[in-house]
Amino acid sequence: LRRNPGEREFHQAVREVLESLPVVVERRPELCDGSLLDRLCEPERQVIFRVPWTDDEGRVHVNRGFRVEFNSALGPYKGGLRFHPTVNLDIVKFLAFEQTFKNALTGMPIGGGKGGSDFDPKGRSDAEVMRFCQSFMTELQRHIGEHTDVPAGDTGVGAREIGYLFGQYRRITNRFEAGVLTGKGVGWGGSHARPEATGYGLVVFTAEMLRVRDLDLDGMRVVVSGSGNVAIHAAEKAAASGATVVACSDSGGYVVDEGGLDLDLLKQVKLTDRARLSAYAEQRGADAEYREGGRVWDVACDVALPCATQNELDEDAARTLIGNGVRAVAEGANMPTTPEAVRALREADVLFAPGKAANAGGVATSALEMQQNASRTLWTFEKTEDRLTEIMKHIHHTCHETAERYGRPGDYVAGANIAGFELVGESMQAQGII
Ligand code: NDP
Repeated sequence: LRRNPGEREFHQAVREVLESLPVVVERRPELCDGSLLDRLCEPERQVIFRVPWTDDEGRVHVNRGFRVEFNSALGPYKGGLRFHPTVNLDIVKFLAFEQTFKNALTGMPIGGGKGGSDFDPKGRSDAEVMRFCQSFMTELQRHIGEHTDVPAGDTGVGAREIGYLFGQYRRITNRFEAGVLTGKGVGWGGSHARPEATGYGLVVFTAEMLRVRDLDLDGMRVVVSGSGNVAIHAAEKAAASGATVVACSDSGGYVVDEGGLDLDLLKQVKLTDRARLSAYAEQRGADAEYREGGRVWDVACDVALPCATQNELDEDAARTLIGNGVRAVAEGANMPTTPEAVRALREADVLFAPGKAANAGGVATSALEMQQNASRTLWTFEKTEDRLTEIMKHIHHTCHETAERYGRPGDYVAGANIAGFELVGESMQAQGII
């Protein structure tokens, strides 16, 4: 705490992991020996850089770029880039710390990292976004590489931004090094099913968790927060599993569509037109109701999938969900549920899936993209989705089994933290004090 003053989100993420570990210290003292915990909480490297760029009117702007390379004990650093005005070192560190354990849970050889900028792509022209991405990559390219650090997308960084970033990397290095970035277009080194992977994987995990209690998504009411990449694909997979997705949100408000969201329209509005959610309600007509501001968690549901941002579901919202009979909450976003809300849900015996397990499908499919790049092949959508489904079931099994083994049955937070810690900790111990 003293070393990282004021880093609220980073402290929150570290505390959540450390609170799961006393039982490991007791049973496996050899793993928690010496400086392991100290080293585990300190990033291997943090880079902060200036990103100057020119807008369409010729004005110069300066943003701040970040890359936190947290832990490479299992493989090259891997984790997304976030472009959003709220990005600062604290946010990037918390995300990179979480990413280390998430990546370990996938069973793939990838370490943990994260990066981004306080640049806001909203309302910017394509040309402005391109110039920003080119300036950002001009510095970032010194620090990344297919064997070193492999960024991907995250909030505010989708196919368009990855394209501009990859183009600039290729131009500067004079190398078509496909494995340096993931989330690329299928025609130039990308993988099928990567855009869908986080949301689809989240729903696979949720279905597995429900199955433990003999429950089925089929026929359930689902509420999703956000309406970006993760939220839309989670809604799509939930609907394909027989659920009715009755609401979603953006930073301006939320929409309730009792008959089930029209996903083609939602994709058109949010992903293609990059418009506000209110435009969805206008075009959908009488079926949908848009509520400005407010909380999407006030809409009654069986399953809640927070897919927008950190700390968006607080204790009060959790109590509303519980009062409305929610059966499961699964995190599509990173750390969207406050610690108090998690406690309330657990006490009410609501199934709860932490993001580092439930939203790992995106990075797992990124690792599949790296595999395809290394062997210069492109798998079909079906093959990639099958591998994703297998990986998500494996992650669910690992978390469930680890929680039982350590005397915390049904506690997926403990299961994910302990299993991730064991995998990373064992590798760090084997590689010496570095
Ligand atoms: P997008 O940028 O595609 O979408 C983000 C969505 O969340 C938008 O609808 C946005 O609304 C909304 N949102 C953002 N901030 C807020 C806020 N403060 N209050 C309310 N709504 C907000 O991002 P992604 O879908 O890619 O990412 C969402 C979350 O999932 C993040 O936590 C990310 O780290 C996590 N994640 C993403 C992965 C991926 O593969 N993309 C992988 C694993 C986790 P608006 O349009 O109004 O800004």
